[in-house]
Amino acid sequence: MRITTGWQSTDGTTALRRVPIERRELRADDIAVRVDFCGVCHTDLHSINGMGGQGTLVPGHEFTGTVTAAGPEAHRFSPGDRVAVGTIVDSCGVCPMCRAGQENYCDEFPTLTYGGTDRVDGTTTQGGYTREYVLREAFAYPLPEGLDPAAAAPLMCAGITVWDPLRTAGVGPGSRVAVAGLGGLGHLAVKFAAAFGAEVTVLSRTPGKAADARALGAADLLPTTDDKRMQQARGSFDLVLDTISAPHDLAPLLHLVAPDGTLNLVGHLGEVSVDVMDLLIGRKKLTSSGIGGRPATAEMLAFAAEHSLTADIELLPSARVAEALTRLDRGDVRYRFVLDLSDLDASDPD
Ligand code: NAP
Repeated sequence: MRITTGWQSTDGTTALRRVPIERRELRADDIAVRVDFCGVCHTDLHSINGMGGQGTLVPGHEFTGTVTAAGPEAHRFSPGDRVAVGTIVDSCGVCPMCRAGQENYCDEFPTLTYGGTDRVDGTTTQGGYTREYVLREAFAYPLPEGLDPAAAAPLMCAGITVWDPLRTAGVGPGSRVAVAGLGGLGHLAVKFAAAFGAEVTVLSRTPGKAADARALGAADLLPTTDDKRMQQARGSFDLVLDTISAPHDLAPLLHLVAPDGTLNLVGHLGEVSVDVMDLLIGRKKLTSSGIGGRPATAEMLAFAAEHSLTADIELLPSARVAEALTRLDRGDVRYRFVLDLSDLDASDPD
């Protein structure tokens, strides 16, 4: 067993505690990664809040780092290589979806980077708010040269989560795309959609983000609280990509979708209520998607490198993780917190 250090939620609190974390000894096709930077995703907050006041959890599923060791059958990486890791660290590899490169929809459910079940020993995976992670090398990606490793970390969850639906919808020049919710996912959706040549509009409850929306590549920000402008924009978008993290009424967003267009829900993943008439009129589509498979993730990283596209981040020493989670909870982030895990090398001041 290898021992590292990380930040753990105990009993569902965001006041994470610094604790020793066990990592497995390397299996034949494993690599060990020194985690350098890990993004703070709203899913981390949902997961902590969802613990029901019980158990422990080490969050973190979008990180970049440096390979420190490789198993005897791990041939893609060597110590010193820079890598990126996302929300999946294993899958069955043989089901139709895995064979199609959609490991995110593995029939046996992919092994999540935290809170997942290891396919070999049945232990619960512990995430990237740690100094070391051990995983099958097949689920690590070379971090392209030229990408800042801190600002690239959020690409591995927020980035691929918005890349996949934009690609699936064939977004390109001439597409009219609206991104609902300008947060971690939303701001990367704006950047990718604009880079694909689409005309992008941000739908936000926060009109004060208008200048940021334009700087990110959007043509405009439409305040969702402005009934008149929402009415004027009815039927305007081929794709509405909804990244809003909380439950909300879908009707106003469906009204914005053009005939034969799509509302894709990637934000709030719970139950929703829909009036089918809002789909029927204009033959609109309602869908959802989860992160992306390995080929799409590699493609996304290559595109990001080619276009120098990374997240807008606020970098904090990992000891300030509770502050990051608290501010994320109240929407006070522009646009992704990233933790610098190097402070875990020093001995615990407490
Ligand atoms: P985030 O940074 O907190 O951004 C969420 C944005 O949603 C906020 O910035 C805000 O934007 C808007 N919002 C929040 N509460 C709202 C409310 N009550 N009503 C209306 N708008 C609200 O979160 P994130 O990290 O981007 O994650 C967004 C969601 O995606 C989370 O629920 C997360 O769990 C989910 N997620 C899904 C996948 C997947 O595979 N499908 C992957 C990763 C994350 P404005 O201020 O601009 O309105």
